[in-house]
Amino acid sequence: MEKEKPFKIAKAILESNKTVVLTGAGISTESGIPDFRSPGGIWSKFDPSVMTSYMLSSNPVYFYRKALAMLGFFNEIKNVRPNRAHYILAEMENDRLISCIITQNIDGLHIKAGSRRVYEVHGNLREGYCMSCDSKVSLNILIDKVKRNNIPPLCDNCGGVLRPSVILFGDELPKCFVDATKEVRSCSLLLVIGSSLEITPVNSLPGLTEKYIILNKSRTFFDSNACLVWNEKAGVALEAIYNEIKKLS
Ligand code: NAD
Repeated sequence: MEKEKPFKIAKAILESNKTVVLTGAGISTESGIPDFRSPGGIWSKFDPSVMTSYMLSSNPVYFYRKALAMLGFFNEIKNVRPNRAHYILAEMENDRLISCIITQNIDGLHIKAGSRRVYEVHGNLREGYCMSCDSKVSLNILIDKVKRNNIPPLCDNCGGVLRPSVILFGDELPKCFVDATKEVRSCSLLLVIGSSLEITPVNSLPGLTEKYIILNKSRTFFDSNACLVWNEKAGVALEAIYNEIKKLS
C-alpha cells in the first residue's frame, strides 16, 4: 500500500491542471529547525502567550524582554540551509509541475532553495518595520538594537517601536494571504506538506479546493477529507514522488 502512494501522488500531480503546495514547519525539521507541536518543538521552549500583537503594542518593553530568547532563535534560523524537500519543490516549479508555494514558515528556506513563487503568509525573518511610520528595517538591525539593550528597539526615522515582520498571535495576515487564497481557489490539487493544519486561517485553505493530498509525519484533523494521506518524512516522500514523476513523464 505505502509503495503505491508515490505513484498515485505523482499521477495526481501530472493529471492536475494546477497544483499548489502548502507547507508548514514539518518541511524544515530535516534542516534542523524544530516545529511547534512535536516533542521538543518550539512551544516547549518559548511562551506563546507573550508572542501576541496585543503584548507588543500594549507593553513593548515586556514583550522584548520576554522575546529575547525568541529573537536569538530567529538569528540562528537565518543560517540554516534548505533540505532535499525544499530543493525538490524548487525543481518541480522549474518543471512546471507546481504553480506556487504557500508557506507558514518564516525561515525563508523555499526562497533560498530557488523557489520563485512563494507566499510567505506568516511573514519572514529578513526584515522588520516601524509600527508608527511603517519604514522597513533589516531584522539584523532590529536584533542588534535589542542586544545592545535598546528595548524596545526604536525607529531611526520617527522614534516609533520596531517589530519583526513575522506574524504574531492576534495579527492580521499580510495581503499576500488574499492572493494565496485565490491561488488555492483556482487550483485542481493542493499538496499539504509538513503542517499540523491547526493554525487558522491557513487551515481554511484545504476546504477551498476539491482535492488535497497530505504528506505529514503525523495525523491531522483534515486527513478524513483528503483524497490521499501519506505519513512520511517530507524529504523521503518528495524524493519518491519526484522519481515516479520522472518515470511517468
Ligand atoms: P506544526 O508544528 O503545528 O506542525 C508540524 C507538522 O509537521 C507536525 O504535524 C509534524 O508531525 C510534521 N512533521 C515534522 N517533521 C516532519 C517531516 N520531516 N516531514 C513531514 N512532516 C513532519 O507546524 P505548522 O502546521 O507549520 O503550524 C505552526 C506554525 O509554526 C506556523 O505558523 C509557522 O509560522 C510556525 N513555525 C515555523 C517554523 C519555520 O519557519 N521553520 C518553525 C516552527 C514553527
